[in-house]
Amino acid sequence: RTAITGVSVIVSVASLFYAYKTSSRLTDLAPPKNGVEELIGNTPMVLLPSLSKFTGCKIYAKLELANPAGSAKDRVALNIVRTAETQGLLTRGHRDVVFEGTSGSTGISIATICNALGYQSHISLPDDTSPEKLALLECLGAHVKKVKPASIVDPDQYVNAAKKACKLLNEEGHGNKGIFADQFENEANWTIHYQNTGPEIYQQLGGRINAFIAGCGTGGTIGGVSRYLKERLGDSVHTILADPQGSGFYNRINYGVMYDHVEKEGSRRRHQVDTIVEGIGLNRITRNFKCCEEYIDSSIRVTDEQAIKMAKYLCVNDGLFIGSSTAVNAVAAVRVAQEMPAGSTLVLIACDSGSRHLSKFWKEASAVRNDIQLCDIV
Ligand code: PMP
Repeated sequence: RTAITGVSVIVSVASLFYAYKTSSRLTDLAPPKNGVEELIGNTPMVLLPSLSKFTGCKIYAKLELANPAGSAKDRVALNIVRTAETQGLLTRGHRDVVFEGTSGSTGISIATICNALGYQSHISLPDDTSPEKLALLECLGAHVKKVKPASIVDPDQYVNAAKKACKLLNEEGHGNKGIFADQFENEANWTIHYQNTGPEIYQQLGGRINAFIAGCGTGGTIGGVSRYLKERLGDSVHTILADPQGSGFYNRINYGVMYDHVEKEGSRRRHQVDTIVEGIGLNRITRNFKCCEEYIDSSIRVTDEQAIKMAKYLCVNDGLFIGSSTAVNAVAAVRVAQEMPAGSTLVLIACDSGSRHLSKFWKEASAVRNDIQLCDIV
C-alpha cells in the first residue's frame, strides 16, 4: 500500500508539473488578430539540432514559411500594397488591381493579400511554371497570364508583360486603378526586411548573432536583414549570400564581377529552365540588391545536389520539411559554422516549405536515402 501511495504521489506531482508547463506555454499565446494582414511577420525562430550538434555552433532557422501565404514574400507584398495605398495609387475595397510578373512565391503572396484587402491580382508567368504553383494561383482567384519563357530584354517576357498590362488598365480608365508591384526594383521590398525581419531576428536571439545566411532572388531579404544587422552589430556579424549553381552573385560578392559564364546581361538564370533550386539566383543587378550590396560580406556556392541531400537530411533528422532555397542556406550555414569558433550563433532564412516544391525538388529529395550523413553533403 505504501508503494501504491508513493506511486500516486509521484503521478500527481508529475501531472501538476505538466499542467504548470502547459499553462505557462498557453500564456505565450498571441491575442486574436483582426485579419490575415495582421498574421504577417513575427515568424518563429527554431534551433536546428542536427546541424548544431554536427558543427558545435548554434544554427537557427527563421521560419518565414510560417507566414499565412507560406513565405517571406507576404511581408513584401503587403508593404508594396501599403506603400501604394499611402501614395493614393490603390484604394481598399475598390477592386483595384495589383499586377506582377513572377513564377514564384510573390504571386501567391500578392493574390492572398489582394483577397484579404479587397483587391484583384493579375499575375504573368512563364508557361513552364510548375503545375502546383499555377494551380495554387488559380485557386486563389488570381488572373493568370501565361507567356512564353523569354529574356528580360524581350518586351513579352513575363515581368514586362505584367508592366504592360498594368499600363493598359490605367490608360483605359475602367474605374479601377492598377499598380505594377515590381518586386525587383521596388524598394518597399528591402525596406520591410530592414524594418521588420532584421529587428525580429535581432530580438529573438538577444542580439547574439555571429552569422546571417540567406539566398538572393530580388535581394530584398538578404539586403534588408544584412543592412539592419550590420548597423546594429558591425563586423561582429558575418553576412553571407548562399548562391545556387548558375547564378552570378557568388562572383559579384567575392570578386566584384557578375558574369562568370555564358550568359549575357538580362538573360534568365539558367536554373529556372534546367536546374532544381528555385526562387534564388540571378545574373543581373536589381535595385533591391544594389541598395544593400555593401552590407553583404561574402558568398558561398551550393550545388543542387547538396541542397537536395540537405533537404532530406533536415526532414529526417529535425522534422523540418523545407523548400529548395532553404536547403541551399542550410548547406552554406554548415560550411560557415565549420570555420567559426565553437559556440557561435548562426541564423538562416527558411523562406518556404517543401510543399511548394513537390514536383521538382522534392521528387529528387525523396529518392535520397534516410541514412544520409552531413559529411557526405558539405
Ligand atoms: N526563396 C524562395 C523560395 C523565393 O521564392 C525567393 C524569392 N524569389 C527567395 C528565396 C529570395 O528572396 P529575395 O527575393 O528576398 O531575395
